[in-house]
Amino acid sequence: MFTQLEIEKLSEEFETKTPQEILKWAIDTFWPQIAMSSSFQTQSVPLLHMVSQINRNLLIFFIDTGYHFWETSIFRERLASEWHLNVLDLYRDSRWDAFARQNIRSLPFEDPNLCCYIHKVQPMQKAMKDMLAWISGIRRDQTASRAQAKILELQEDGLLKVNPMLNWTKEDVKRYMEKHNLPSHPLFAKGYRSVGCAPCTVAVGIYDDDRAGRWQGRGKTECGLHTEMFKKKDLSKLKDDFYMDISVMERRKVER
Ligand code: SF4
Repeated sequence: MFTQLEIEKLSEEFETKTPQEILKWAIDTFWPQIAMSSSFQTQSVPLLHMVSQINRNLLIFFIDTGYHFWETSIFRERLASEWHLNVLDLYRDSRWDAFARQNIRSLPFEDPNLCCYIHKVQPMQKAMKDMLAWISGIRRDQTASRAQAKILELQEDGLLKVNPMLNWTKEDVKRYMEKHNLPSHPLFAKGYRSVGCAPCTVAVGIYDDDRAGRWQGRGKTECGLHTEMFKKKDLSKLKDDFYMDISVMERRKVER
């Protein structure tokens, strides 16, 4: 639909636009082949609220890893129901079931990249297969790698990643939530300022970075959705990213 050059130009122009303007442009341009992903934590709330105001029919993927806090599931249900959001839960490919069950306790600790690949990356790759655009809620102030992101990022397979919240800070999030009187994730007040799966999230202190409680001590800061891993569709090209032996799964051709 757009050349790389056109996308770069638009992305530059969007640096001065509001998230609502970017969101509306993306939905109007790519409808219906557009979807959003959301982890339904406090940081996700403003973007979800904007979607509820602009087009609540937008497909929103919630990746149900099976490792979520109960509070996250409750919060996802609450927002989806009160704001009439079009949320679809994604699950791992059933061909991983035996492997995942055998390693259910150890996997997030011994091989978090593989765990994230099985439970998040691959289901999302599959869900986005027929989409033209993917809206994500990442912000530049969250991590060093996110600081390098662009508002529009055209991937090699033609999928356009749209990051409407990129220029917002955590203060912007707080201000928007106060202005609209929006609810926080139930664990936010207990020090969980960034919430992912339960085995990989701990509460942080007031002087810690918001994401300091994610994969603490495991040398990992991203789940793979927002890294090069998402762009690799062939399992055989990924095995160097993992510690555990997945040759059995390779033979079963677990792909997209
Ligand atoms: S965040 Fe942790 S438990 Fe969740 S998929 Fe990734 S490694 Fe597994």
